[in-house]
Amino acid sequence: MDITQLVEEIAADMATRRERGQVADYIPPLAGVSDSKFGIAVVLEDGSVHTAGDAHEPFSIQSISKVFALTLALGTVGDQLWSRVGREPSGSAFNSIVQLERERGIPRNPFINAGAIVVTDVLLGHLEPREAIGQMLRFVRELAGDETIMIDSAVARAEEETGFTNMALGNYMRAFGNIQGEVAKVLGTYFHFCALSMSCRQLAMAGRYLMDSGQVEGRRIVTARRARRINALMMSCGHYDNSGDFAYRIGLPGKSGVGGGILCVAPGRASIAVWSPGLNASGNSHLGQAALEKLVQATGWSVFESH
Ligand code: GLU
Repeated sequence: MDITQLVEEIAADMATRRERGQVADYIPPLAGVSDSKFGIAVVLEDGSVHTAGDAHEPFSIQSISKVFALTLALGTVGDQLWSRVGREPSGSAFNSIVQLERERGIPRNPFINAGAIVVTDVLLGHLEPREAIGQMLRFVRELAGDETIMIDSAVARAEEETGFTNMALGNYMRAFGNIQGEVAKVLGTYFHFCALSMSCRQLAMAGRYLMDSGQVEGRRIVTARRARRINALMMSCGHYDNSGDFAYRIGLPGKSGVGGGILCVAPGRASIAVWSPGLNASGNSHLGQAALEKLVQATGWSVFESH
């Protein structure tokens, strides 16, 4: 199969689509991104990289950072993390507060906002915000093998100015004792994680450890068991209340962000990133999902297919 040709074909097809979804408009730096953008990058197990469209243009990875934050927190406290955050799909919106009352301040999973805020609090258990942000930046740069990755401070600032729901989530969990640090510091750190700016190529490179049982080029990042478990969480919880549909249509672990990016993993085969800023009603990239669906149809990479 010629993957270079396939990603070119997918990008050409996406360029013709009229239905492109709605660009996130809750902060000006995201609202200003053109909905005509589309990028795709596929890193194969053999290390070859295949890109098309706007694959080299950095965008705001937003909630995709929750995968990297979870990986760091598991590395810090191990399975103790699961006493503070669950592992079940939420069936609710990314910033939903409703389940927190019923479940006494324990978020359903680490990939909704409440869960990622707890994960961030865990990382701040032994670090100052500045250090935790530095740790995250070093981590994604190391994973991607790319020192040019940056955090967009204008995005982080805008999130901070408008993040009232996230503040409410943080304060509510603090009331249950499930946020231990100062809420403003936890949120400020979380917003900087969301404001990581990466291209599809950089993201697909950063996802290699999840494709290759926890390793990158022979270096161990996490154990094979941990990589498998993170993939399982991405499959069941990576797309908010759209996670079931994503598994049905694409059948791969993935994590989306409201910047329009999706990181997707075909274990043992490929690490994939797509980007198109127009979102569906659940906040997941409309064309990104369409592109992944085409890719999986052509390659048979779904984990539910026999190879
Ligand atoms: N910064 C966004 C928030 O916390 C991230 C949401 C997302 O990407 O889904 O509201």
